[in-house]
Amino acid sequence: MAQISKDVLIVGAGPAGMSAAIYLARSRYTFSIVEKGMVGGKLNISTKIENYLGVGMTSGFKLAQEMLQQVKDFGIEIAQEEILDVKKEGDLFHLIGSQNEYLVKVLLIATGSSNKKSQAVGEDKFIGKGISYCAICDGFFYKNSEVAVFANERKGYLEALYLSNIVSKLYLINDKDEDDAEGNLKKLKEKDNVEFFYPYKISEFFGENELDGVKIKSLDGEEGKTLVVHGCFPFLGDSPSNYLASKLALDMNRGYIVVDKNMATSKEGVYAIGDIVDKPLRQIATAVSDGAIAATSIVRLLNSRR
Ligand SMILES: Cc1cc2nc3c(=O)[nH]c(=O)nc-3n(C[C@H](O)[C@H](O)[C@H](O)COP(=O)(O)OP(=O)(O)OC[C@H]3O[C@@H](n4cnc5c(N)ncnc54)[C@H](O)[C@@H]3O)c2cc1C
Repeated sequence: MAQISKDVLIVGAGPAGMSAAIYLARSRYTFSIVEKGMVGGKLNISTKIENYLGVGMTSGFKLAQEMLQQVKDFGIEIAQEEILDVKKEGDLFHLIGSQNEYLVKVLLIATGSSNKKSQAVGEDKFIGKGISYCAICDGFFYKNSEVAVFANERKGYLEALYLSNIVSKLYLINDKDEDDAEGNLKKLKEKDNVEFFYPYKISEFFGENELDGVKIKSLDGEEGKTLVVHGCFPFLGDSPSNYLASKLALDMNRGYIVVDKNMATSKEGVYAIGDIVDKPLRQIATAVSDGAIAATSIVRLLNSRR
């Protein structure tokens, strides 16, 4: 296993990590950027994107490829590698990857988060073809249509409330009816265009190429039902990819890394950007902005150490 020494290591090549990379490439400092999966991160499961300024309506995959091309044009190589562990060694961070070890002065965590899945049959087949995990991103495509939402926690109820103001009818499937601290579930139950199914869960997503509907199963032994919808939003919570943050005992809120206005975490030399960060809006625009801010903050930090 090769040992690579650089000023900075960026972990994760979603929009946040790639944005930081192009800013760092214009500085005098050396860095590596690693990605364990597909470059572009969650963009690859976003079928349509139309709220990222300057690119019009596009697909997430296409946007990811365009970002990658821009990164390559800067002469940056993204290493295909998963970072498995981290420890502090004196002033440096020692990271163990699946291919290499890295010794760096600054660690930039851009590992994002993943959506918890419903585990129902057919879910993977229809992601981006009727199944979405983001109301702000995809709700617009179901304006005045009927959709199903499977939610059981407070962020999910908030997303469902947002959708209920766009769609003609919302079938709310709920298996736990709990964690309604902000009262959004109560508001949903009071809306004329929301039909509530409790305690139910989705057992199957069906359709040919695109989603045509969902089968729901009662947890009380009632008969199952079929809902004909072309859009379904499972909002069952996020899983922030915070393993490295936990290893470094960074301050976190509900699993998301707490940062200051420079994207610096609670540990000197560790920065975090994008969806892994504790913040009110997780979008491409905010991820890219975080990357730019972090990279310039890191350059300032390294300059101050010279
Ligand atoms: C279905 C869907 C639709 C969306 N639509 C829109 C939209 O229309 N408009 C919009 O603005 N936003 C949209 N979003 C949100 C947007 O995709 C995210 O806000 C954005 O991708 C966050 O970027 P990121 O770089 O922080 O994280 P991610 O995109 O999640 O990238 C993180 C990367 O880090 C990698 N990684 C994680 N751990 C490691 C490790 N240990 N080692 C190496 N690599 C690692 C992951 O593989 C991943 O590629 C959508 C999201 C979803 C799920």
